[in-house]
Amino acid sequence: MREKPAQLVPLDVTNSSGGSREPLFGLDADSLSRLLVAAGEPAFRGKQMAEAMYRQWLSEIPEISTLPVTLREKFVAEGWKIGRPVIARAFQSVDGTERYLIEFEGSTPKGKSAEAVWMPEGDGGEAGDETDTEAKDWSRATVCISSQVGCAVNCQFCLTAKLGLQRNLTAGEIAGQVVAVLERQSVRVGRDRENLVFMGMGEPFLNYDNFMAAVRLLVREVGLSPRRMTVSTSGIVPGIERFALEPTNVRPKLAISLNAPNNTIRDEIMPINRKWPISEIIAAVRRVPLRPRERITFEYVLLGGVTDRPEHAREVARLVRRSGLPAKVNLIAWNPGPGIAYAMPSPEAVAAFHKLLIEEGIPVYIRQPRGRDIFAACGQLKRTLEA
Ligand code: SF4
Repeated sequence: MREKPAQLVPLDVTNSSGGSREPLFGLDADSLSRLLVAAGEPAFRGKQMAEAMYRQWLSEIPEISTLPVTLREKFVAEGWKIGRPVIARAFQSVDGTERYLIEFEGSTPKGKSAEAVWMPEGDGGEAGDETDTEAKDWSRATVCISSQVGCAVNCQFCLTAKLGLQRNLTAGEIAGQVVAVLERQSVRVGRDRENLVFMGMGEPFLNYDNFMAAVRLLVREVGLSPRRMTVSTSGIVPGIERFALEPTNVRPKLAISLNAPNNTIRDEIMPINRKWPISEIIAAVRRVPLRPRERITFEYVLLGGVTDRPEHAREVARLVRRSGLPAKVNLIAWNPGPGIAYAMPSPEAVAAFHKLLIEEGIPVYIRQPRGRDIFAACGQLKRTLEA
């Protein structure tokens, strides 16, 4: 039987810069099926398209050999594109870490790119959670991705804050960073067990819908495990409350970027604390139903002379104990950045803080700085071509 010529019904999927269509990357299999059905094609073509974009990582419509040639040509003629984000620049650290400048299809120059990081050895931040009860042969590789271009939260120790918020990333732009990095690193999904952290540029819970849509894409379409994903928030309470309602089989683990032992210091270094103080954050976190063996992570940046004293360690231990949460603390020695007037903690102060928390019975890990020489380490991400 001769193939019927494809009839695409033009849909109003345009971007804000006018005219051209939104990328297909970011639509899940059901949405793609609806698009194809609207074009007079059978629904299973949508599933084929999803398979091609999210499992085979094809990046151009003409490459999708499971679709009829006429349909591919029609799509291209009508201006559709897969439009997956691309790695425009890569910076390599002496420790094997890579930082990427990732560009997005059709964006205005202002919000054109964000950053992602690949850490082949991880940084120790994944230690001590539910995943380390699994087989020991898994790779510790970690991908760190951005949820926004810039950030509005204004943490005083963070280089990204200097950009201010430029824009939210779409679900396809968030998930696309992951696929771009996995493809570059030849990761075999389902065989290599990499970790994924939403800890790059931006506050994921201030871009909640797109962040969670990206997670669903990564779990359902790309095939990644949500148990190997961690989202870090500065403590956006309404976001934590929404997160508590997500089904546990598609949500990442939760990390709270605590960084201070009390509200006085936190108000100063994270002004967002004046809106949602520590007690409110913890009350919201308590409402998140946890999976068996799952723990909440408290991320704690040690700023020399500001948050790294022994009395701060004891206060953090009390705070974690009183929270009643199954929790661990990840310590991060602050990474310097241009124009930020904090000091790195001394190695002795980091060791003493770590020891005190252990003595207090708190599970604690030190995150190793990765990619400092290329500004890829925690708090250092800022779109820059200088490195
Ligand atoms: S630490 Fe995170 S939440 Fe705070 S300003 Fe930087 S990117 Fe935003």
